[in-house]
Amino acid sequence: MKILAPCFECTFSSNPRFESQLVDYFDDGVAFVTCSVGHKFAAIVQAQKFEILLNSGASALLDGFTLEACASFSAALERFYEFFIRSSAKGRKISTDLFDEMFKTMAQQSERQFGAFLMLYLLEFKKAYKENPKIRTFRNKVIHKGEIPKNDKATEFCSWVYDEINKIYQSMSDKCDNFCLQEVTMEMNAKRQKNVPNGMRVAIVGETGIFPLCHKDQKGSFDEALEAFQKSREMLRRTVIDPFPMGRHCHSE
Ligand SMILES: [Zn+2]
Repeated sequence: MKILAPCFECTFSSNPRFESQLVDYFDDGVAFVTCSVGHKFAAIVQAQKFEILLNSGASALLDGFTLEACASFSAALERFYEFFIRSSAKGRKISTDLFDEMFKTMAQQSERQFGAFLMLYLLEFKKAYKENPKIRTFRNKVIHKGEIPKNDKATEFCSWVYDEINKIYQSMSDKCDNFCLQEVTMEMNAKRQKNVPNGMRVAIVGETGIFPLCHKDQKGSFDEALEAFQKSREMLRRTVIDPFPMGRHCHSE
C-alpha cells in the first residue's frame, strides 16, 4: 500500500519547503521516509485495517483488477466485524490485553468472529442484524472458486460491502460513547508506534481513503465514494513531488 507522507521538518523549518513522497507500507501500518534533505522519520498510517483494505480494493477496481478488488472488499468486511467487536468490548471496559487473549481463539475462524459480531450487535442495538445474503454467495464464487467477475459485477459486490459497512458504522457513530471510537484509534496508533525504532521521529498521517473514519466524511453511496476516491487519487498523483526522480539508489546521503 502507498501513503502520501509530507516531511513536517521541511514544512515547518525556518525556510519552509513542501515535499511529499508516496511511500510504501505494509501490514504494520508504518512507512519509513527519508526526504531529499535527509530528514528521516516514520509515518504512522492512521487508518483501521478495514479502511486500508477498502482503499486497496477501490484502487484495484479502478485499475480493472476485479478479482483483487472483490478479495480486498471481502477481507475488509471481515476486518470491519473485528473492528466492531473490538470497539464494543472497549465500550464495555474490557482491556485490550484481555480482548486479545479472547480473540486468539477466534482469530483464525471468521465464522466465530461473525457470531460474536451478531451477538454484540443485538446487545448494542436491541435488534437482530440481517446480513445481505448476496454478499456471501458472490464471495464464495470469487474467493473460493476463483471466478473472475466482470467489472459491473465486481462494482456491484463492492457496493454491497460498502453499504453494509456504512450502515453499521453510522449506527456506531450515533452511539459513539458505547464504542469508544477515538480511544480505539489512539490505541491503534500506539500499537503501530511500537514498530518504530527508538528515537526515530514519528508523524501520524491520515489516509484520504474511500471510507475515511478520520475525516468523518463517509459518502452515502459507493458510486459517490468511488468517484471522490478517484478524484483524490488523481490529485495525489499530480501533487506528489518525487525528490528522487532518478531513483533513491542514485541519491547520495
Ligand atoms: Zn525534510
